[in-house]
Amino acid sequence: MLINKKFRLDNNYFPNELKIIEIDHIERNYDMLINNETEDNLKLLFNYIDSNLTVFSAYRSYYLQDYLYKNRTDELVAEAGSSEHQSGLAVDISSRAIGLTYYLEQSDVYSLLYNNCYKFGFILRYPKNKESITGFPFEPWHYRYVGKDIAEIIYKQNLTLEEYFYYYVPLVL
Ligand code: ZN
Repeated sequence: MLINKKFRLDNNYFPNELKIIEIDHIERNYDMLINNETEDNLKLLFNYIDSNLTVFSAYRSYYLQDYLYKNRTDELVAEAGSSEHQSGLAVDISSRAIGLTYYLEQSDVYSLLYNNCYKFGFILRYPKNKESITGFPFEPWHYRYVGKDIAEIIYKQNLTLEEYFYYYVPLVL
């Protein structure tokens, strides 16, 4: 599923396979929801990296996104409908100490995540120097679940999801 500023989700789009994230690392006083299969693979990724990772954000409804957008203090909050978080397939991951900051890019955690996430079906969704293609600024913490086969192609060929669709998914006219 391609979600960006051009291909948006409706306000009545609710993913139907959400579950609560059950990962020990998470320190939150509320439950975070995510797609079933994404959660299974996220657990495996966290076990593999084992580096004090935590999830900062997972599923967000259209209405929560709309609230966040209207109350945003920076450019990183996507407009409702254009956020992948509404699909239940996206997660913001970082180490607890670094959080959602650009210091993440310089950390070992980042290279571990970036270079191994595809093995578990995840891609770094908004890479550096691809802003004009994705329409979003570089976000070292935002990962999207696409499944192992697609993730491997995207990682090894240094593509974005937009480019993957362009090169690999036949247009249905
Ligand atoms: Zn995100």
